[in-house]
Amino acid sequence: MQALPTYDDVIAATARLQGHAHRTPVLRSSTADARWGAQFFFKCENFQRMGAFKFRGAFNALSKFDAAQRHAGAIAFSSGNHAQAVALSARLLGMPAVIVMPKDAPAAKFAATRGYGAEVVLYDRFTEDREALTQRLATERGMTLIPPYDHPDVIAGQGTAAKELLDDVGALDALFVCLGGGGLTSGSALAARALSPQCKVFGVEPEAGNDGQQSLRAGRIVHIETPKTIADGAQTQHLGQYTFGIIRRDVDDIVTVTDVQLVDGMRFFAERMKMVVEPTGCLAFAGACAAATAGGLQGARVGVIVSGGNVDLARYADLLRGE
Ligand SMILES: *Cc1c(COP(=O)(O)O)cnc(C)c1O
Repeated sequence: MQALPTYDDVIAATARLQGHAHRTPVLRSSTADARWGAQFFFKCENFQRMGAFKFRGAFNALSKFDAAQRHAGAIAFSSGNHAQAVALSARLLGMPAVIVMPKDAPAAKFAATRGYGAEVVLYDRFTEDREALTQRLATERGMTLIPPYDHPDVIAGQGTAAKELLDDVGALDALFVCLGGGGLTSGSALAARALSPQCKVFGVEPEAGNDGQQSLRAGRIVHIETPKTIADGAQTQHLGQYTFGIIRRDVDDIVTVTDVQLVDGMRFFAERMKMVVEPTGCLAFAGACAAATAGGLQGARVGVIVSGGNVDLARYADLLRGE
């Protein structure tokens, strides 16, 4: 394990992303402010390239490759946003990419990843060990494995979203972040500690998958079974060594929300802010609303990281209809 990344690494990542990542907008909603009695600042990573903040971490990590690594390329296992993030970053940086995905992932995911020029290798979730397969391919082809969250360069890249938010709006009283494996939350915490030291930082995870909350309470990384939740980007079974190291030091608390609260968030974003946000992308707002309803955020300046907007439209419609 290397040293934990620092805010200086977030600054360096900002420079690497300059001209490649979008500086996403910070949106306001007077309806939200009036309804929950706080001042919300929404950092809209659903408008990031490939539709989620994961582009930041992947691009930062791949940008740091040396000549030999660039020549051989990057490999990742993911069926979600990290797959597209690595595929797009590799294409932009002119290097090969291999993405290992389960055979039964939605066809749209293969198409999107191949569309960015990556080679997709399929495996059988029930009979094959994806980590072993990916490691074998990485060794055979000399490719560099980029994990979805537990990597210093990935964490530093993800931290650039909160840095932009704080640079744009100034100090906050609280910052809510969607939490899966903790790359976004730990990177955000690095930025918040440096730029708004009094700001309370909260990770928000699905109630059914509260391994992060359990880990914070226990003081060690707790592993759980893959949780059943509509927040498919947060179905991680455990935090990482790096993400947990930062979270236990710099994050104030981890709170949970139910799938029903996520759908309420999706509906609010669609109806009031005209935004398509994927279920996982609603975690932070749902957590902030719950805290505000409990009376903890009256008049406070509250940052909300809206993490992504990639959702199959038929499924989106079903969720909004309550199916
Ligand atoms: C990956 C992802 C998350 C969780 O991020 P971590 O860094 O794993 O905590 C949240 N929202 C979206 C949209 C994601 O793709």
